[in-house]
Amino acid sequence: MTPIVLLASLTALVYAASYLIMCLIAPWGHCRRCKGVGHRPALIGRTRRECTRCDGTGRRVRIGRRLIEYIRTEYRAGTR
Ligand SMILES: [Zn+2]
Repeated sequence: MTPIVLLASLTALVYAASYLIMCLIAPWGHCRRCKGVGHRPALIGRTRRECTRCDGTGRRVRIGRRLIEYIRTEYRAGTR
């Protein structure tokens, strides 16, 4: 294996590990639809409407945290 491939795969592995650790420490991320504000401008007029994806909180559960919870639930269901 060439050193550049080894370095690239090692970098990807370190990035994935750090993302999973970050998902364990801080499971909440900013909502992408409303950019963490919690509301969006209405289609007509100047009023605001609550973001439906985050229910107005501006935060959402990270995808990695959902993956960890899914694996954890499956593991618990299998070991009973
Ligand atoms: Zn939102």
